[in-house]
Amino acid sequence: MTDEVVAVDGLNFRFGRVKVISDVSFSVCEGDFLGLIGPNGSGKTTLLKLILGIYSFNQGSIKLFGEDIGAFKKWSAIGYVPQKATNIDEAFPATVREVTGMGLLSEKRFPKSFSKDDMDRIKLSMETVEMGDFSEKRIGELSGGQQQRVFIARAIVSNPKILFLDEPTTGVDQESQKRFYGLLSRLNRDGITIVLVSHDVGRITKYATKIASLNQRLDFYGTHAEFCAWDAKHHHQNEQTHRICLHRG
Ligand code: ADP
Repeated sequence: MTDEVVAVDGLNFRFGRVKVISDVSFSVCEGDFLGLIGPNGSGKTTLLKLILGIYSFNQGSIKLFGEDIGAFKKWSAIGYVPQKATNIDEAFPATVREVTGMGLLSEKRFPKSFSKDDMDRIKLSMETVEMGDFSEKRIGELSGGQQQRVFIARAIVSNPKILFLDEPTTGVDQESQKRFYGLLSRLNRDGITIVLVSHDVGRITKYATKIASLNQRLDFYGTHAEFCAWDAKHHHQNEQTHRICLHRG
């Protein structure tokens, strides 16, 4: 058994003629909290979708839990919270409990009904994200931050070993963001490996144990301390990141 949860090697990907991912190699080990950063359009979401098997590629390789992605079947070991999870229409009829339960449906054959054990897992997931008191509320009635936590509940209900999240850029206030990062830290301490696409370099460098900086190519990959040294050397002008790194390191 390898402790490499994800291993990406020599990955290349293009949309039509536009190259989006260029010769990217890195791995994510069990217990890591990896922050994936990079400017807009640098390929972060695309890279996640390649690892999640949503897009297929023909150059390079991706292994999940030591197995080639083409042969990989245990998708319930992987949780995903997409960026567009928030901004749900107010009239969207599903409740918090129902949305959380959706995370179990892919494992099931017909008839898709919940067992007592499933119901317990749904309850525990809602409580983990501190949404237990809102279980019968309609998802559309909640704030952006609350919706985001429900989508985390949906992603963790199948007890995944790794969680991928694409941080929303809009609709979540400062306080909810702090809570979001606190929740991810707790899940990580409880043993879930985390990969978070983030636009907030200041915050991610406070929480992540490893940082990957993507700009079609992987500009940097390493520990938090290595990132600070790299960032100081390459981005003297980026005062904010530098200061945060000094503060933590
Ligand atoms: P990021 O998440 O870093 O902002 P993306 O992975 O969303 O970057 O996008 C990387 C590049 O790929 C961008 O130039 C974007 O316009 C392009 N792109 C993303 N999705 C598609 C798509 N479905 N079809 C064509 N081009 C796309």
